Amino acid sequence: MSAKELFQETLEIGLTGGIGSGKSTVSAGLVERGAVLIDADAIVRELQQPGKPVFEKMVERWGEKILSEEGELNRQAVADIVFKDSEELLALNEIVHPLVREEIARLRDTYAGGGVPIILDIPLLIESGYEDLDGIIVVDLIPKEAIRRLVAYRGFAEDDAKNRISNQVEREERIKKADFVVDNNGDLNSLNEEIDRAWNWIESLSA
Ligand code: ATP
Repeated sequence: MSAKELFQETLEIGLTGGIGSGKSTVSAGLVERGAVLIDADAIVRELQQPGKPVFEKMVERWGEKILSEEGELNRQAVADIVFKDSEELLALNEIVHPLVREEIARLRDTYAGGGVPIILDIPLLIESGYEDLDGIIVVDLIPKEAIRRLVAYRGFAEDDAKNRISNQVEREERIKKADFVVDNNGDLNSLNEEIDRAWNWIESLSA
């Protein structure tokens, strides 16, 4: 049976979790099982391409010093500006968030009625007030292991990983908001089983 026949209505499921918790791995696994994905980070990267709206507004604000020699966004230059000045970070968020929200809304409209579950992978899903979804999946991982994976597999410096990782309180708050928790404290095989469980849960919502 195709995913389309299985799902009568188009479910919209938010997926969130701390940095390095395994969101991309889980969303890819759900896509393999038949979902479509709206990936907020990918949308940001797309809108930051030269000529695209977020790029244009950022250059308007900070000028060419945030560009590489090739005329693309120099992410490190942007990070150097916004991570030491909260007003600059606010300005960046005010540029990025509305345009990303707009694109997410456009994609939700595009996929609505397709009968295939939509996964919305949004790092700050809970904080951003997406309350009209059919359910929220939180990918959970103890902070110590998230730091280890960011350093081991993603090339982060240990201090940088520690600074960016959610603290225990944020972790618990997130879990409270979850309709379904994916435990990613095990190895990749157990994560695969967790993804099966998550997919079964999604299927059960439309039964
Ligand atoms: P970000 O917050 O940066 O977007 P993320 O939450 O999407 O990260 P992933 O990129 O899926 O997290 O995972 C972080 C890293 O940990 C990746 O290199 C991934 O392959 C690895 N990883 C994820 N789950 C496991 C696991 N259970 N065991 C070992 N490595 C894992």
